[in-house]
Amino acid sequence: MILDDVTMPEYERGVRSSSTVIIPFGSLEEHGGHLPLCTDTLQVVEVCRRVAERTGVHLAPAVAYGVCRSSRNHPGTVGLTTATLRAIAIDLVRDFHRQGMRSFVLISGHAGKTHVLTLVDAGEQLLDELPDIRLSVISEYNEIQEAGKALVAGEADSHAGEIETSRVMFLRPELVKGTSPAEWPVFPDARLVRDKRRHWRGGVWGDPANASAEKGRQLTEIAVGRVIELIRELEDYRETTNGGALPRAGSSDGF
Ligand SMILES: [Zn+2]
Repeated sequence: MILDDVTMPEYERGVRSSSTVIIPFGSLEEHGGHLPLCTDTLQVVEVCRRVAERTGVHLAPAVAYGVCRSSRNHPGTVGLTTATLRAIAIDLVRDFHRQGMRSFVLISGHAGKTHVLTLVDAGEQLLDELPDIRLSVISEYNEIQEAGKALVAGEADSHAGEIETSRVMFLRPELVKGTSPAEWPVFPDARLVRDKRRHWRGGVWGDPANASAEKGRQLTEIAVGRVIELIRELEDYRETTNGGALPRAGSSDGF
């Protein structure tokens, strides 16, 4: 079910056939001079919509804002603090749980490390709080980067580069305004910087010149397949009886 579109009786029936819900997390964030601010939201929603149609799991409306650190001084980036994102994720899972859902997929189209780790942190709290749930946190960009390696020509492709440009060219070509110069920003190793634009002029990480709509189609399919696989793994997963809280005697798991 696409939850935005169903009625109350349809929801009631739907939750009896599957209790898995996917919650997409995007961002309103600069993506260079050529891609729209909604790039991350667009990509994740389109992947999740295809996943929902093919599997019968339920798709929740997207959270269209995220935690954006490196790009926060670039024009157009409007984001949340980690505390707010964490609270939103927790509230949504709690309320979907109250409405009968039991398996949760928090899937992010925005690959920012702090953003994804905030979702992981919220997920850990939810596992403690709700003993009958299963939960995954997926960064669909990271999944594509790994699974789509063979399709990507450029080195170290990331934000608004070959992958994202290809995907928007496939999904919403009318939103792609030409291209932007290739860029590989260098931020200091440990020191946090205020003037982030000084280190990242154009807001691109990679080379958009290698992008194509056909590559975008294939990358989208790869993301859909990979997310379906991860959802199946989640649904098949059975917890150990003590939730793994105490290591067995002689266990070598030190962490
Ligand atoms: Zn992005």
